[in-house]
Amino acid sequence: MEESIHIRSGWLIDGSGQKALSDQLISIENDRIQSIRKSEGSSIPHADSVDCSRHTVLPGLIDSHVHLFMSGTGDRKIREDQLDAPYEKIKPVIIEHIKGLLRYGVVAVRDGGDRHAHTLRFKNESLEKDRLSLCIHAAGRAWHKPNRYGRLIGRAPAAHETLANAIMADSEAKDHVKIVNSGLNSLINFGRQTPPQFDLKELKDAVQASNHKGWPVMVHANGEMPVGIAINAGCRSIEHGFFMGKENLKKLAEKQIFWIPTAFTMKAFADHFNSGGSSTDVPLRNMEHQLEQMAMARKFGVPIALGTDAGSPGVHHGSSMIEELKLLMDAGFSVEEAIRCATGNGAKVLEIENLGRLVSGADASFIVVPGPPSHLPESLRSVQQIYVNGRLYPQDYR
Ligand SMILES: [Zn+2]
Repeated sequence: MEESIHIRSGWLIDGSGQKALSDQLISIENDRIQSIRKSEGSSIPHADSVDCSRHTVLPGLIDSHVHLFMSGTGDRKIREDQLDAPYEKIKPVIIEHIKGLLRYGVVAVRDGGDRHAHTLRFKNESLEKDRLSLCIHAAGRAWHKPNRYGRLIGRAPAAHETLANAIMADSEAKDHVKIVNSGLNSLINFGRQTPPQFDLKELKDAVQASNHKGWPVMVHANGEMPVGIAINAGCRSIEHGFFMGKENLKKLAEKQIFWIPTAFTMKAFADHFNSGGSSTDVPLRNMEHQLEQMAMARKFGVPIALGTDAGSPGVHHGSSMIEELKLLMDAGFSVEEAIRCATGNGAKVLEIENLGRLVSGADASFIVVPGPPSHLPESLRSVQQIYVNGRLYPQDYR
């Protein structure tokens, strides 16, 4: 049966970065957007119309960097338990996180890995059965060099094998590969950089092996050398990218490689440490430096996708979208440009056609928030409606 809905929106943000449009009529047929046009203020002629004239309609949000198996809690005991818990214990945790994401209008996520590949297993075994409408792209277990950072979210190749060989032998049914190519930000010494984990040849071969298997590569990299190697190796995206420097930013723009800055992680660290009484100085300076890089990236035309790294201490699934959007705006992005990072650009990183943009022909997946665009991102705290493929998402996830 052919179904049609007409939505009159007070404002519409289409996910392209262009300025919000006022007073639009969105017509949906068979789960797709058929047309978007000025509603001319006329009363809607259809009985099947929805009045959102005091609301803003925007594409469903995409978080391009999460760890669904971990909660954002600062409670050390809970965090340690989650790191090594069996699948049966983590499955309900993942379901809670999904509900949290939907509450804030997130309809798709890209997962950056976990030690036991629980998120990937959940996606492959349970997602459909639990009737949760979140789109999950998962890395399974990430790769890191033996004796370097990354054990929390993955594994190292065996002593006798190269990273490329390990990837070729990997039989997990995954969406992308995650490689860790640096350490973490120092929270004590501002701007201290760690050496790359893999050299250019190792990483190039690994990217080639991944692409051969149809997997794009997301690379965790902070610092000039680790980021530079990841760019030259041909990765799909740079994750974090703290202290990568101007030259790397220019290269990202030139090659149109995506950058996921995860700036809020540092603010969350500062807040977290604050409650513990330690110094907040360095994490906050890290964040400030990242905002400067984000401002430069905007100027150069680096494609940025919003990722929160939810699951890190103080970075909660769902609500952290608001925090990361705010930081993009602090770095000089307009609200529409910030939303593009969390919609249109996210869809490109995840290679999901028809999501992230509100244009005719796209899937009718969008969210409705109260008030004009100037109330964003705070208005994401009270998402009124979520449509996934033209259907109003059930409210019972709340
Ligand atoms: Zn991460």
